Amino acid sequence: MSRPQLQAQPRTRTLLVVDDREANLVAMEALLGDGDWQVHTVNSGEAALQALLELDVELVLLDVQMPGMDGFEVARLMRGNPHTRYTPIIFVSAIAHNRDSVLKGYATGAVDFILKPFDPQVLKHKINTLLAHEHNRRDLQLLTQQLDSARAFNASVLNNAAEGILVVGEDGYISFANPAIAHMLRGSVDGLKGTPLLSHLASPEMTQPWRESDFYLHWRSGATYRLHEAQLRTADGGTLPVAISCSPLPRQQRSMVVIALDMSVVRNLHAQLETQAVTDSLTGLLNRRGFTQALDSALARVDRNGKCMAVLYIDLDGFKRINDSLGHEAGDEILCKVARLLETCMRPYDILGRMGGDEFTALLDSLDHIEDAAKVAEKLIELISVRHRIDDTEVTLGASIGIASFPDCGHSVEELLRAADMAMYEAKRAGRQQFRFFSKEMNGRAHARLVMEENLRSTIERNGFDLVYQPQIELASGRLRGFEALLRWDHSGTGDVQPGVFIPLLEETRLIDRVGEWVLREGIAQHREWPERFGEGLILSLNVSPIQFARPGLVDVLGRLLEEYGLAPAQLELEVTEGTLMQDLDQSCEKLRRLRELGVRVAIDDFGTGYSSLAYLRHFELDTLKIDRLFIANMLDSPRDAAVVSTIIDLGRNLGLEVIAEGVETHAQRDWLIEHGCDVMQGFLVAPGLRPDEVVDLPSHVDWRRLEGR
Ligand code: C2E
Ligand code: CA
Ligand code: CA
Repeated sequence: MSRPQLQAQPRTRTLLVVDDREANLVAMEALLGDGDWQVHTVNSGEAALQALLELDVELVLLDVQMPGMDGFEVARLMRGNPHTRYTPIIFVSAIAHNRDSVLKGYATGAVDFILKPFDPQVLKHKINTLLAHEHNRRDLQLLTQQLDSARAFNASVLNNAAEGILVVGEDGYISFANPAIAHMLRGSVDGLKGTPLLSHLASPEMTQPWRESDFYLHWRSGATYRLHEAQLRTADGGTLPVAISCSPLPRQQRSMVVIALDMSVVRNLHAQLETQAVTDSLTGLLNRRGFTQALDSALARVDRNGKCMAVLYIDLDGFKRINDSLGHEAGDEILCKVARLLETCMRPYDILGRMGGDEFTALLDSLDHIEDAAKVAEKLIELISVRHRIDDTEVTLGASIGIASFPDCGHSVEELLRAADMAMYEAKRAGRQQFRFFSKEMNGRAHARLVMEENLRSTIERNGFDLVYQPQIELASGRLRGFEALLRWDHSGTGDVQPGVFIPLLEETRLIDRVGEWVLREGIAQHREWPERFGEGLILSLNVSPIQFARPGLVDVLGRLLEEYGLAPAQLELEVTEGTLMQDLDQSCEKLRRLRELGVRVAIDDFGTGYSSLAYLRHFELDTLKIDRLFIANMLDSPRDAAVVSTIIDLGRNLGLEVIAEGVETHAQRDWLIEHGCDVMQGFLVAPGLRPDEVVDLPSHVDWRRLEGR
């Protein structure tokens, strides 16, 4: 928006000389010809008026006595015309005037008189002064015009602004209101003027006197006051949500401008967004949030008239393949197509949702028999499990469906969804393209898990885990190499729970962090009792879970523990599986490097069952390979397994790694291993995992190879 500006216009200044005598005109022209103006002459009053219309005359030298229209008459007519109303006039007269005629001249608006004969210098001086006045007047006039148009412009801005605008005086009364605020308040602009601002505010309620209100206090301190959530009181008794800002106007105005933004539009927008928040933008079905809300309200108004309700959890079979091979657009198309298919099977009061990815849910309301849900599921599978055309490619889809009924399978949204989800997994496990009802056994399994999880937590609380230590024997010398610490959970009542059962659960529930750290500390602390009994140099092997290995703090924790208990790093070995290392190759390399820096040994556990990739063996900084006990168990019967074992032994030798055979149970196995140059054995042949007190009971100087069956 540019403001109107005063512009300097180049002017040709024109003087009009009016005299009925030609000689006077010539004389005047000669006299004034050298000024920086143009002289225009006419010889009658009528001609003067004509010239004034045609020319932009800045000053008129007017002979008073003329035949016909005299000078006074000309002056009177000039003053009557807006165009020439202010044009300065100098009356030129040959006769001396009495006071009356001078006053008459002034009364017509004449600005000056000069008597003939006159002094040319005096005349020029008068002309210059009057012209200067005239210029000032014209500038002022121009400015006034521009001001007027600026005011009109501002007024139109105020009139057309969508925001409500009020000017409020320091006394708290409205002095200006624009049409928008009048509209918002359901009143008129004039009706608002002179009313107190606070009388239009419904909330926050300001009952204190104006001079204690926040509006006034902010204004006093020259600050802008903002109210994001206010309500105006409208003239028809309603309210209108608005956002208000009140800013001080320049000091001398002693008032403030209040701008009110109608928020009802924004509120509606919010409501609209709310709708979007519950719908899945791709398929238009309810999203997870929307579906759980719908299920929640269905449960709230469920009638107990014998009708039942079922939740279906639908998972597409083969969707990932399509998505990966044909691209996301094709995937999206499939999802929309499935959504439309599902809709065809629903009755009006059923509800469909997409939980994300290729998982859909349906709520079947008011079923006569729960078996009806099975019919729907069957039909859905049938509809979906056909060949679909996408981009000229034929794709096959399928669906697995889990069904949970209310109230048998749960009373809450979470229970029902979890039950349906579990049943869906069961259907998938059973070979896909099927549906399954949630069953008590499934529930039983889920329940058992929950109980176990709870027990694990309480075991952690009361420090109820134990470690046992299984000896590792050097096959060549019969010397004790060290012990592998194995976690035990003697969970009262049910007997020992296998680590293979509870460790995965610890990992899933992330409880492994706490237990894992306990194992490190407990094992390292236990090691202190060994040198006295077995001499220096025994190695303690600790198992580290994938999650624990991936923790950034692992190396630091180990460093601190080793220092705390004064254990030489080389006496500690961490056992990790290949899978653990393959989680993130770069990170694993880095972690192994840092462990090597610390001086801690690293063994690959269960070697041979995983990737056994030679490539990574070269990259990783390792010390030990532990041959999985399955190979040891089978090697005497299976040439293949024997080949694996001897290959691993050779591999270890070539790479300079120590090789440990796990699960050695028989003399024959031990002898075979000695024969093939295996370094270390571990297994029930020597001993199972032993409690700390059993460890110190072991004989200290024997040929451990010959020790058996403890
Ligand atoms: P693993 O590291 O391979 O541990 C060796 C497993 O073989 C142990 O089972 C051990 O009792 C068993 N074993 C030892 N000698 C023989 C034998 O001669 N014959 C047979 N049949 N088995 C033998 P356990 O204690 O049940 O541990 C199972 C797995 O649990 C371990 O396999 C390990 O992966 C994990 N685990 C044990 N303790 C811990 C621990 O403190 N932390 C972590 N993260 N995992 C652990
Ligand atoms: Ca191990
Ligand atoms: Ca192992």
